[in-house]
Amino acid sequence: MTAAPTPSTKKDLTGKTFGGWTVLEETPKTRKGSSTWKCRCECGAVRFNVFYTALTTGRSTSCGCRRKGAKRNRARSPSAHSQGSNITYQTWMHIKTRCFNLNHPSSRGYGQRGVGMAREWRTSFPAFLADMGERPSHEHRLERINPQGHYTPDNCHWVQR
Ligand SMILES: [Zn+2]
Repeated sequence: MTAAPTPSTKKDLTGKTFGGWTVLEETPKTRKGSSTWKCRCECGAVRFNVFYTALTTGRSTSCGCRRKGAKRNRARSPSAHSQGSNITYQTWMHIKTRCFNLNHPSSRGYGQRGVGMAREWRTSFPAFLADMGERPSHEHRLERINPQGHYTPDNCHWVQR
């Protein structure tokens, strides 16, 4: 009888999905050397210390929201967000248009001048939401702190018009 072989090197999980988790990157090794990963949940929550084994065995599939959601609403969809998220989503869509739809008039002062957007944000609204939080109200807009800079987590904040 031989035991199942255990791989000596752990796989790179970056970009993989496990349930509601999307793996962003490996977090620096803990003292004990256990492999933990920075993951983003489908709800936008980010955890820095999801264990490799918890992911690969399916023990952890979300930040906890899936369990809560399952009780209340089995057919929970990623778009089932609060009203607040909707205006945040609109802002995200506007920024994408500004930066990447170079034929659109609203890209004149942005994409056409080379203003870009954080790579994570470009492909993921949950990533944007996790970094910036909800747009506080219709009175708020997303401002770049350095107007020459890009739309990135470091360079953006919500300000009242
Ligand atoms: Zn979650």
